[in-house]
Amino acid sequence: MKTRKRLYVGLLMASLLLVAGIITSGWYLLAHRDVLMNRIIIISALVVAAALLLLIGGGILAIVLSIVRCKPIPSLDGAIRMANEVLFPIALFLGRILGISKERIWRSFIAVNNSLVKARKALSPASQVLILIPHCLQDSECPHKITVDVNNCKKCGKCSIKDLIEMADRHNAILKVATGGTLARKYITEVKPQGVVAVACERDLSAGIQDSGVVPVLGVLNSRPNGPCLNTEVSVEEVEKAVNLIIKGG
Ligand code: SF4
Repeated sequence: MKTRKRLYVGLLMASLLLVAGIITSGWYLLAHRDVLMNRIIIISALVVAAALLLLIGGGILAIVLSIVRCKPIPSLDGAIRMANEVLFPIALFLGRILGISKERIWRSFIAVNNSLVKARKALSPASQVLILIPHCLQDSECPHKITVDVNNCKKCGKCSIKDLIEMADRHNAILKVATGGTLARKYITEVKPQGVVAVACERDLSAGIQDSGVVPVLGVLNSRPNGPCLNTEVSVEEVEKAVNLIIKGG
């Protein structure tokens, strides 16, 4: 077995052992709860679990309040991130059991994220905005390599890249073609933008937003009239609206 496979299988087994260890320890502590030390451990574990639940609950409350009041709660930004990171996979799992499609949950997550970003204070007019677009927006027969440099586009107008370049220029924004999450992260690290407008499908946008850390990301969904990843389309007006929202506020 190659190292990469061994690592994953090893982590799976370690996770199983960890869960089994927690259950066994819980059972042992409860069975011997008359011992003072065990009681202290049980109470400490319950306090830590309650604190975590409170923090995550605070994050959910902050999401709801921010959306309802259209105002951010900066002190609870960390709790919001934690609630999203911890509960998002559970929400997807629950959705699967309840027969709710992943796409619907991803779209809902993107809408919530966009509302939270809109509720934030506007950035300064000179703020650097990064626009990340997927490669599949480019006409599949176009020979020009826009993944290396978007300015290699000859602006023939056969796809939305021409209009996106002109729109980005109007707003002094940086436009990059990200062929995946790794490249998107690299551009965010390099450019250090104050805000990002990302165009992608539901899955990639959700993953990107979760990955972006503290940088506000407004997501714009592309449409796929030719199926996934081929000659996809986006409303340049919608992308421009998102850029304006990041710079001027909602
Ligand atoms: S607009 Fe640019 S990227 Fe699109 S087909 Fe024309 S040259 Fe290629």
